[in-house]
Amino acid sequence: MAEHYWVETLGCPKNQVDSEKLVGSLVGDGFVAAATPEEADLVVVNTCAFIEAARTESIDTVLALADARRPGARLVVTGCMAERYGDELAAALPEVDLVAGFGVPLHPSAPPAATPTGRTPPAATPPAAGSATPVALTRKPPPDVASAGAAAGPLPAFDLLNLPRPPTTAPWAYVKVAEGCDRNCGFCAIPSFRGKQRSRTTESVMAEIRQLADGDTPLEEVVLVAQDLASFALDRSGERPARRSIDGPMIAESRPIVELVGAVSTMVRRTRLLYLYPSALDDGLVDAVLSTGVPYFDLSLQHVSRPLLKRMRRWGEGERFLDRIHAIRRDEPASAFRSSFIIGYPGETEEDHDHLLAWIEAAQLDWVGFFPFSPEEGTFAAGLDDQVPSELMAERLRECAELQDAITATRRDLLIGTEVEVLVDTPGEGRTYREAPEIDGIVSVPRDLEVGSFAQVMVTGAAGPDLVAEPLVGAHDGAPR
Ligand code: SF4
Repeated sequence: MAEHYWVETLGCPKNQVDSEKLVGSLVGDGFVAAATPEEADLVVVNTCAFIEAARTESIDTVLALADARRPGARLVVTGCMAERYGDELAAALPEVDLVAGFGVPLHPSAPPAATPTGRTPPAATPPAAGSATPVALTRKPPPDVASAGAAAGPLPAFDLLNLPRPPTTAPWAYVKVAEGCDRNCGFCAIPSFRGKQRSRTTESVMAEIRQLADGDTPLEEVVLVAQDLASFALDRSGERPARRSIDGPMIAESRPIVELVGAVSTMVRRTRLLYLYPSALDDGLVDAVLSTGVPYFDLSLQHVSRPLLKRMRRWGEGERFLDRIHAIRRDEPASAFRSSFIIGYPGETEEDHDHLLAWIEAAQLDWVGFFPFSPEEGTFAAGLDDQVPSELMAERLRECAELQDAITATRRDLLIGTEVEVLVDTPGEGRTYREAPEIDGIVSVPRDLEVGSFAQVMVTGAAGPDLVAEPLVGAHDGAPR
């Protein structure tokens, strides 16, 4: 009889893609999906190590599933926590049968790993007593990037980027086009355990999209993700954009991300990009995004104060960001914008905070995420002086969130009475191009609209980030709505 699996996913869209690839691999090995974790023979927790709160949630989830699983079922912990804290996690969680870093098979009959980092917990270690707090974690040394297959050669056979995925059951899907990151942001631990960027080929991305579309649900939207999406393929020699001169000033060749966006947009009606580093959003990429018909820009800004951004080891400052946003709105007034900011980075002054509040007011973005600074072990920022007290950080975060919530609500209210096109994701729920799946708001629609279809609707109401809409009969003129 076939064994059953259950995969629990925490964290970001990139982790969700990894989970789907793990599922594709398990199905390929003869496993079938369990209806509940209690019925599974193999329970997998794909963890997130982004900040302390995410780690706590991951460990709480592991402990809850350890209690819930049936006798004899194996419990495997994988994902960023497994990669970053593997040995200590294995020691602290004796309930877990295997702590599997990236590229480690999750069950004994799977093919051998190319870069095995699996750890089996020792039997005699005392339990963590049902709570995340006793698990003190220190980071393992950064991986040997070359041995992780960074830029030197083909990806390992078991690399998650290369694993097949099952067809999608929703009309949209995340597609991860690269793993790792070549930047050096002061607060970020990702490069230390995900390694240097290694990009897929455009052909393999397109092949994955064809796999995803090979089911009963039409695939209408692809959301491209990577740690630093706009740098797609710049890690591969020969794909760095050369500069050339044609009878005048030097101009840049189009970058691989531009070509990728063009290729993907021939396959699906909506192509959406997440996590764009601001210096990489040049005219060519803006044009590529606008030409897909999805004028949605997710800019990873993190702050607007130049001195603070320098301390973050990041490019840019608020005025340049605003100039770019205004220029895009001149080209396409209906453009939607998302960004994220870190609040309370070491050295953030009242002046920096006021600057950010004024910028948020001026920018009028559609969606913004605010994150309290979390000193990640081993990062540049963890060792900085002038750490912002947690109460002050919480106060600043509340001020930013209140201001942005009001802006988001106003921008949503402005859509009442307009016609929009929604992609119906589930019965009664759709999205226009303005809403990224599982991240932004939704549009409530009548439940009889077919899942996977596009529908013209009239917005009749708004509640915070969400809209309510009724069907509209009429032709679509192709403009973003
Ligand atoms: S670009 Fe993103 S993933 Fe890369 S170091 Fe900076 S914050 Fe981390």
